[in-house]
Amino acid sequence: MSGPVSPVDSTEERPVTGPPGMEVTDGRRTVVGGVPVSRSLPRARRRTVGAWCFVDHFGPADVRDASMRVGPHPHVGLHTVTWVLDGEVVHHDSLGHEQLIKPGQLNLMTAGRGVAHAEETPPGATGALHGLQLWVAQPDATRHGPAAFEHHATLPEAEVGPVVATVLVGELAGARSPARSDTPLVGADLVVTGPATLPLDPAFEHGLLVVDGPMTVDGRLLEPGAFAYLAPGRAELGLTPGPGSGRALLLGGAPFGEPILMWWNFVARSRDEMVEARRAWEGESEQFGPVESHLGRIPAPPPLWDRPGMQPLEK
Ligand code: MN
Repeated sequence: MSGPVSPVDSTEERPVTGPPGMEVTDGRRTVVGGVPVSRSLPRARRRTVGAWCFVDHFGPADVRDASMRVGPHPHVGLHTVTWVLDGEVVHHDSLGHEQLIKPGQLNLMTAGRGVAHAEETPPGATGALHGLQLWVAQPDATRHGPAAFEHHATLPEAEVGPVVATVLVGELAGARSPARSDTPLVGADLVVTGPATLPLDPAFEHGLLVVDGPMTVDGRLLEPGAFAYLAPGRAELGLTPGPGSGRALLLGGAPFGEPILMWWNFVARSRDEMVEARRAWEGESEQFGPVESHLGRIPAPPPLWDRPGMQPLEK
């Protein structure tokens, strides 16, 4: 599953609300590759949380109604992080990896200077299609480096009272993920069965996406789909599910100090870099390489910044 990011992601449908230090927004509903998604990042007023720069919550949808069919497409300057809540997704990339991903497993692909991949519901799949597609911006130190892919079949868990946290990236409550991160970062799937206080790194800013709810977050009742931005300086976060249990995705990191541009499936620093990446994909350059897939290659859209008033999304 993947982007693309378009100028419509810079439009704000509803005002940002929340108590001091918290901004709450609803995801923007869209459809990607035939699957309904709710996009929490990027937004007009909030481009990044740490280095997290893209958050799509896809499904839940019955695979008989909506199967994922995202053909070969390129990325530069970012990591894609795929976290499946239900169902299965198969990934093929230009490095030659074919990887089936199931709930509880993590795919992390590093684009660096260029990679291409395709993602789809495997043939014969049943049940639901439900998960999260996340992007992490790479810093200057690594974004011109080689592409890479890693799959983690199991991830560490931390128990904090009635919270079970599966740590996707970084460290939380003493549990550390083996997944790559190029900047200080945390990502965790939280299953919350009672009132709890979660320890946070006060040097980080955080975002909490309510997946199953409602959930009360520091006294504020949030419905499923709400995304709460939490400013740096917090050492803990109060979570109360209910009624019943709740589930949320916690993302955080050191505020990303480098200004970024996002357009389509690229994260870059300048319009010239976007033009060059687009040209390379359209020219079938070896910068990206071929992907073994029965799905059609996705062409780059026209460069919208050639039109008056349009530009790539600036952080
Ligand atoms: Mn992608």
